[in-house]
Amino acid sequence: MRLPDRFVAACVEPAWDLRETGGRRLAAWRELQRRQWDAPAAVEVRRRAALAAIVRHAAATTPFHAGRFAAAGLDPLAVRDIADLARLPVLTKDDLRAGGEALFSRAVPRGELVAAKTGGSTGVALQIWCDRAGVERRAGAALLADTWSGWRIGQPVAAAWGNPPVPRTARQRLRAWARERILFLDTMRIDAAAIAAFAAGWTRLRPGLLFGHAHSLFILAEALEGRGLAPPPRGIVATSMMLLRPEREVIERVFGVPVTNRYGCEELGLIACECERHGGMHLSAETVWVEVLRDDGSPCAPGEDGRLVVTDLVNRGQPLLRYEVGDRGALAPDPCPCGRGWPLLATLTGRLADFLLALDGSRVAGISLIENTLTRLPGIRQLQLVQAERGAVVANLVPAASWSEVTARALAAALRDALGAGLRVEIRTVERIAQEPSGKYRFSICRVPS
Ligand SMILES: [Zn+2]
Repeated sequence: MRLPDRFVAACVEPAWDLRETGGRRLAAWRELQRRQWDAPAAVEVRRRAALAAIVRHAAATTPFHAGRFAAAGLDPLAVRDIADLARLPVLTKDDLRAGGEALFSRAVPRGELVAAKTGGSTGVALQIWCDRAGVERRAGAALLADTWSGWRIGQPVAAAWGNPPVPRTARQRLRAWARERILFLDTMRIDAAAIAAFAAGWTRLRPGLLFGHAHSLFILAEALEGRGLAPPPRGIVATSMMLLRPEREVIERVFGVPVTNRYGCEELGLIACECERHGGMHLSAETVWVEVLRDDGSPCAPGEDGRLVVTDLVNRGQPLLRYEVGDRGALAPDPCPCGRGWPLLATLTGRLADFLLALDGSRVAGISLIENTLTRLPGIRQLQLVQAERGAVVANLVPAASWSEVTARALAAALRDALGAGLRVEIRTVERIAQEPSGKYRFSICRVPS
């Protein structure tokens, strides 16, 4: 039996939230739903206050941050704006690995902390902890971002995901049936039978949202080309950070719905998400403060690409001040015409670690290179660039019917054009681009030590 969406939204969701989070998740969602329409000036006042509060909390209760403020000669009580933190060094993943006990706030009991694990670009796992109130505030922000896609709370959801969780206990099964109502496509095992089962499940459950890693959604779209899903979803949310333009076009054509691109990470939760205008991603300004920095540490001008450094405004358990998240992007010069007061991230250029290294030592955004190549050259369905040494690149490529030697030569020429005339290019045709153990995909991988 399928529960009516309105009943789930009005009764099941609030009851579940009350039981699981004390009602905090939906309360955060409601508050953010109102606040998203506040004028930029009001947003600014509020986030400065949140910044000042988390800085005071971090410096007063966390030995690591207390030491950093002292070493920088910076009075935490004097911090009123992000620029006041400029003297505080950026917090790296290595700092977090080495920091141990000193990173935890003494004001938050251990039982109040929830762990998030991340692989990190070096492959060494990193564990970050956040207090429960912070986790629920992030969840409320993510929920709001999901509704920007057109989906409404209470509507079932379908997810294209690697290794999806399978409900095992009676309690988990009840939760899956009554509240989550999720249909999964396990992207680790996609074949004709799995796609047929997913399409049949879709017609039965009628999800309002299709959700997943960008490339998994693309693979699903390709398999459903000419058929789509019936009925179509209200919204599609792509969560893996790199949504390639050519893949986005295929997803939108097949399902007939715009893709809502979302950016976040395990350590911080939601960082930014597109609204219904799709002209950039609104920063989750009530939960994170994002700085875009040049290599010398000075702030980038709007539109200028730089390193993303994030201060978490909600995590009181393990405060993260000026955390180098490892990605690059640029802020938009103008506010979004939708009227929301949260600033816009104009572009996300990719993982810092995955910029390819040109022969002259400069860094090239592999994702842009792939997007341009896919758009311009015929005969390439999917493309992944892997660089193990400075002078060579391996192109793993899924060919389309029109693939030919002409395209192979043009691809090699395009790569040499971007990375240097002496570049060795090896083209390997493959059946599919391999997934990371996490289920995510990476299109541009640089393994040259920096
Ligand atoms: Zn907007």
